[in-house]
Amino acid sequence: MSAAAKLLDRLERVKQVAPGRWIASCPIHNTKGQALSIREVDGRVLIHDFGGCVTDEILRVIGLTVSDLFERPLPHAKSGKPNQWHARNGAFETIHKECRLVAIAAESIAAGVLLPEVERDRLCLAAERIRAAVEVCR
Ligand SMILES: [Zn+2]
Repeated sequence: MSAAAKLLDRLERVKQVAPGRWIASCPIHNTKGQALSIREVDGRVLIHDFGGCVTDEILRVIGLTVSDLFERPLPHAKSGKPNQWHARNGAFETIHKECRLVAIAAESIAAGVLLPEVERDRLCLAAERIRAAVEVCR
């Protein structure tokens, strides 16, 4: 099943408007209109919601992930040609991981635990990584 077919299969009120182009109802705000625009370009599926919903959220609601929008497994970023999508995805992963660490440390500090120096250093590193990752996502 193509990436587009997999997505369209889970949406409602799907209507093809041109080759490789469809409209459908947004699964989040679920209005009667078709605010969701779906396009298939070079084996990639692009989603735009005119209602303003974020693609990640839309996919989560219908049980898919961003990688489901790609026909083939993602190619690794080629040297000298930065892959913006790849960079952002890596940044999100970093934020996710580092924030969890920070949250655990914050709980310990709030509970009155004095963190050993090695953990404080790690915390500073986490802050740096989050800051850098946020920049990538801008
Ligand atoms: Zn929406």
